[in-house]
Amino acid sequence: MAQAEPTQDRQQDLSREISARRDDLVVLTQDLIRIPTLNPPGEFYRDICEYLGSRLKKSGFDVKLLRAVGTPGDSERHPRWNVIARREGGRPGPCVHFNSHVDVVETGAGWSFDPFGGTVSDGRIYGRGACDMKGGLAASIIAAEAFAALWPDYPGAIEISGTADEETGGYGGVAWLAEQGYFSPERVQHVIIPEPLNKDRICLGHRGVMWAQIRTHGRIAHGSMPFLGDCAVRHMGAVISEMETSLFPTLAARRTAMPVVPDGARQSTMNINSLHGGQAEPGAGFTGYPSACVPDEARMVIDRRYLIEEQADEVREEIVALLERVKADRPGFRYDFEELWQVSPTMTSADAPVVKAVERGIRAALACEPVHVVSPGTYDQKHIDRIGRLKDCIAYGPGILDLAHQPDEYVGIEDMIDSAKVMAFALDDLLHGRG
Ligand SMILES: [Zn+2]
Repeated sequence: MAQAEPTQDRQQDLSREISARRDDLVVLTQDLIRIPTLNPPGEFYRDICEYLGSRLKKSGFDVKLLRAVGTPGDSERHPRWNVIARREGGRPGPCVHFNSHVDVVETGAGWSFDPFGGTVSDGRIYGRGACDMKGGLAASIIAAEAFAALWPDYPGAIEISGTADEETGGYGGVAWLAEQGYFSPERVQHVIIPEPLNKDRICLGHRGVMWAQIRTHGRIAHGSMPFLGDCAVRHMGAVISEMETSLFPTLAARRTAMPVVPDGARQSTMNINSLHGGQAEPGAGFTGYPSACVPDEARMVIDRRYLIEEQADEVREEIVALLERVKADRPGFRYDFEELWQVSPTMTSADAPVVKAVERGIRAALACEPVHVVSPGTYDQKHIDRIGRLKDCIAYGPGILDLAHQPDEYVGIEDMIDSAKVMAFALDDLLHGRG
């Protein structure tokens, strides 16, 4: 028990230091929201990186602005800028990295606040990106600054990054930085991604994804004599019918040990993302009639989300086997299957040091039991895991996940303070090897 007292004292000091920075936290969050980093197309990345860089420079960080030249979407008009700031302590030790994406999705309709105004109302800050995830970014900066102000000679190093393009796959952001070695385990040992998962929850990882395209082929003919052609849409109808009778029930029965939230995603799922057959949709303003033709091609895009218990090969083979069953039954059925994009599921061990440290932080700062969750969709952890080969990574941050991408998105100021404390407590533990 000799260790307990000093830790408690340190946590009280950190709590006080963070609470004293409340106004700074609010202004920082507002400033970030007011830079409208919409993606697509990827606006104002350089501006937000410069803003973050100059702030962190003042707090003793070495700052690098890095453009992911040539990555998807990168252009002179919309360059993919990222910022990485690193503050060395006074002696050797591990590096703890806080990674936040700076991009936000389109605003959409239905707002009662200016989406880029950063309005404060009733203890909340409103705006696109408030919860996903500029509030989390601001909370992690305050946590790191408060910690470094109290104990500037800490062991190891603290890193904070603001990265591009998470909302469109992260290829000009974390994926590119990981390829450059910024997330190699020799350089960084622990990563916290302050995505909005609620302040008492630790997100261990995410389900996998496979996007694929299925095409069925037919033969064009005059629509008045369809028997002279072969309708690709009817062939696709047979595919959907087989999915309804065999695939969807099978997927729904496949439950996972991953603690995915919400519960409906705690199984394999598949979305039919789009379906098209026959003539192209007429352009806006066209007032004529269609011509009479039998469709010679139909195209479907599927979005299959899979579990840690499943392998990518099995997921692929399951769809191909379904198509082969339809083919065996159906004269003239021809298809092709093309995988478009695939990401494996990832889940950090519940015993990993970063999980344990954040658990203790939640207990100490919030006096409640932490909950482990897994995200139904992917986020940048995939790149840190697969490209960086860095396994000690979680998502933890303030904000309510359901508000992400919605109108009147907000983050609670008290939630940001609480999660900043949790992050600072975890930082203190990890830097001192109390993983
Ligand atoms: Zn996000």
